[in-house]
Amino acid sequence: MTAAQQRQRIATHPGNVGGLSIRRALPTRALPMVGAWCFLDHLGPATLAPGQEMRVAPHPHIGLQTFSWMIEGEILHRDSLGCVQVIRPGQVNLMTAGRGIAHSEELLPGAERLHMTQLWIALPDGARHMAPAFEHHPVLPVMQRDGVRITVIAGTCLGATAPMQFHSPLVGVDVVAHGPAATTLPLDRAFEHGVLVLRGEVTVDGEALAPGTLLFLGPGHRSMSFAFDGPAQLLVIGGAPFAEDVLLWWNFVGRRPEEIMQAADGWNAGRGPFGVVEGYDGAPLVAPDPSGLRIGR
Ligand code: MN
Repeated sequence: MTAAQQRQRIATHPGNVGGLSIRRALPTRALPMVGAWCFLDHLGPATLAPGQEMRVAPHPHIGLQTFSWMIEGEILHRDSLGCVQVIRPGQVNLMTAGRGIAHSEELLPGAERLHMTQLWIALPDGARHMAPAFEHHPVLPVMQRDGVRITVIAGTCLGATAPMQFHSPLVGVDVVAHGPAATTLPLDRAFEHGVLVLRGEVTVDGEALAPGTLLFLGPGHRSMSFAFDGPAQLLVIGGAPFAEDVLLWWNFVGRRPEEIMQAADGWNAGRGPFGVVEGYDGAPLVAPDPSGLRIGR
C-alpha cells in the first residue's frame, strides 16, 4: 500500500433498499473492504411519510455475517432458522449465513423514523461453510467520555468489548456528540479503519468530514482524534486486512464464480441450503442472472 492509499476519502454512492434511498459506503471500486467488513449501507436518518414502508422480501446469503446497528426506528427480522426478532435503537442483530440462510427485514407499521447501518462481514475460508446462526444483542458497552457517548458495537475499544464473536479481528465503534466536544480513540495498529459520519460534521485528525464520504486509514495508526462543533454521530469500523480474495455478488460472498452461480440458481429453483422464511407477507426476491460472472474472471 502506498502512502497515498494510507489515507483516502471514498465517496459513498446512492442506492435503494426496500423502497428507501440509502448511501452505500462499501464496497466501492476504490475500496472493496475494511478488514473483513465488505458492505456498509447507511439508511437515513429519515422521517418517514405516513404509511411509508421499507420491506426487504426473503432473500438468501452465503459466506458472510450481516450486522445491523440500529440508531432510530424498529425493524422486524425473520429468518429461515425460525428466528423472529425486532431490533431497536442501541441494539445489534448479527446473522451468520455460513453455508446458507434466508431472511426478510421490514419496518414495523407506524414507524416514524429510521436511521441504521447494515454491514456485512466476509467469513474467512475456515468459517464460511459453517452452520447458519442468528444472534440478537440488546445491550452493548456504552461509555461517556470527553462529552461524547461511545458505544462499542463490535470488538474491543477503550477496554470494553462487545458481546459477539467474530471469525477475524474486527472493531466497530459508534460515537455521538450532543454538542461541542473533542475526543481521541485508540486504534489497533494492525487494523485498517474506516470512518463514516452518520449525521452532523466531524473533524477527524484535523480533516473535515460529513455524511457521504468514508475516510479510510491504512494500518499503522495508533489513534484517531475527533472534534465536534455541535451534535454529530459517526461510525468507526476496522479490522485486520482480509487476506483472502473474495467475490461479492448480489447477496453472496464466495471465492469462485461457480459457487456463486450455484447459489443463485439454487435459490431461484427453491433448492440449496437456504430454507424458507415463514410469516413474511409477499414473494421472495429473485436472484439476478449470474451467467455474466463467468466472463472476465
Ligand atoms: Mn440480507
